[in-house]
This record gives sequence, structure tokens and C-alpha cells, in this order.
Amino acid sequence: ATGLMRGKRGVIMGLANNRSIAWGIAKTLAENGAEIALTYQGDALRKRVEPLAAELGAIVAGHCDVADEETIDAVFAEVERQWGKIDFVVHAIAFSDKDELTGRYLETSRSNFARTMDISVYSLTAVTKRAEKIMNDGGSVVTLTYYGAEKVMPHYNVMGVAKAALEASVRYLAVDLGNRGIRVNAISAGPIKTLAASGIGDFRYILKWNEYNAPLKRTVTIEEVGRSALYLLSDLSTAVTGEIHHVDMGYHTVGMKAVDAPDI
Ligand code: NAD
Repeated sequence: ATGLMRGKRGVIMGLANNRSIAWGIAKTLAENGAEIALTYQGDALRKRVEPLAAELGAIVAGHCDVADEETIDAVFAEVERQWGKIDFVVHAIAFSDKDELTGRYLETSRSNFARTMDISVYSLTAVTKRAEKIMNDGGSVVTLTYYGAEKVMPHYNVMGVAKAALEASVRYLAVDLGNRGIRVNAISAGPIKTLAASGIGDFRYILKWNEYNAPLKRTVTIEEVGRSALYLLSDLSTAVTGEIHHVDMGYHTVGMKAVDAPDI
């Protein structure tokens, strides 16, 4: 542990359980001195988030469904009441109808397209808008994206389109907040077996494919995403904004299946 986050406070949104990417980030930030506020989506997750918060000495700021503006206001009001100011926000939230994360993108319905964009893309803007009001100059915002934004991945479908829009949002928000030294970046994580990922078709195959073909020959852990988030959320990266940082064992650099990769 480094103490890099000592004196910094922030909100982490998108914790579902101890396999969540948000958990890998929360643990790493806490180990390095951050004070953390967690939100949860609905009562079912409250029961999971409360004990995890206790493990880290984190505060629980309450229920937040990013589709509901009032709940976003409520959790940021609670954080302001408890702390006054914050230094960082982690946005680790995405949603799409599981039935459309398989088969052809062409079959995406209008209603799921809109909902996917609302929860997985607009929410970053909605959250950042609240965060800006209570964020110290020099703060940092990090969201989570995936390579399916850049290249077509099997079954990722509308989520790939949403991640492309999320990555564009990162660049626009980076400009909006840059004059206060507030930075906005995304981590493009390689595939990890989480609750959200289990909704994607053939996910086990995708994990294996990455393991065999990424330069570093395995898949990433939530702790490794956490350590990259530590860089982006701490003062190590004060010159970095609008960036899509790949934490994917180098997979995005590869143009073709490795010649020695086994069949899956
Ligand atoms: P997860 O299931 O652990 O977390 C997803 C979170 O999104 C949950 O906590 C859920 O409550 C939250 N969420 C969904 N709809 C919401 C809403 N309406 N309001 C508030 N919260 C809502 O899965 P994860 O894989 O840790 O996902 C976190 C982020 O990482 C997502 O943006 C995901 O797209 C991204 N990501 C995941 C992978 C992967 O392979 N797991 C790879 C790259 C990027």
C-alpha cells in the first residue's frame, strides 16, 4: 500500500458483490488510504453492499438507480451532508436486456436500445453533473468500458454501441471539467466473470479466447483493474484526461489469433 489516496474521498457506484469490478477498485483505493462512499441499486443489493462497506470502513450513501434522477440527487446530497467535498467518482454501471446480448445486433429493439443508452451512457453524465458541484479542483472521474466499443465482439451488440458512446462522453466531459483540473478517463477492462458479464452469450468462450490470444496469456483480475484505477484516481495521473486506458492483458494490440493458441 502506498498512501497515494490519503486525504481523498470519493463515491464508488456499481458494487453488486465481491466479484464486481467496483469491489476490486474499492479495495485497492481503501488499501491506499482513500475514504469511500458506496451506493447500491435496490434492497437486494443493499444486503450485499453493507457488509462489504463495513470491511473497508466505507460509508453507504444509499440507494441509487441511475435511471431515476431523484435517487442520484439523494446519494450526492447524502455524501455532501457527510463530507462536504469529494475528490473522485467511480462509475461502474451498465445494463442491457440479456435477451439482446446474444445473436444479431440487428434485432435490437428500440426500447432496449434506449434503456441501454440511458443506464450505460447517460448515467455517466448525470452522475458527473452532480459530482462536479461537490468535487475539489484536481478531482478525477473513472468509468468502465470494453473493447466491444471499438471492434465487433460476439454477442456484445447494443452494449458495444453504448460503450462507444460512453467513450465519446468521456472525451466531452474531460473538456467540460478540464479548466478545474478535474479529469475524466475510462478503463477498458478485459473480460472478467462478473454478474453483468454472465448475461453475455458464450462468455466462457470469450474468456478462453482472451486467455489464449492476449500478449500476457491470461485474463485480468478485478484487483489489477483496481490498481490501474488507483493510477487514474490519484495524483500520479494529473496530466491524463479523456483517455481510454486498456487494462486487458494487451488484447487490443493483437490483430489475429495466436498461431500457437489451442482450439477452444
Ligand atoms: P457487476 O454486475 O458486478 O456490476 C454492474 C453494476 O451495475 C451492478 O452493481 C448494478 O447494480 C449496476 N447497475 C445496473 N443498472 C443500474 C441502474 N439502473 N442504477 C444503478 N446501478 C445499476 O459487473 P461488472 O462487470 O463489475 O460491471 C461494472 C462495469 O464494468 C460495467 O460498466 C461493465 O460494462 C464494465 N466492464 C465489465 C467487463 C467484464 O468483463 N466484466 C469488462 C469491461 C467493462
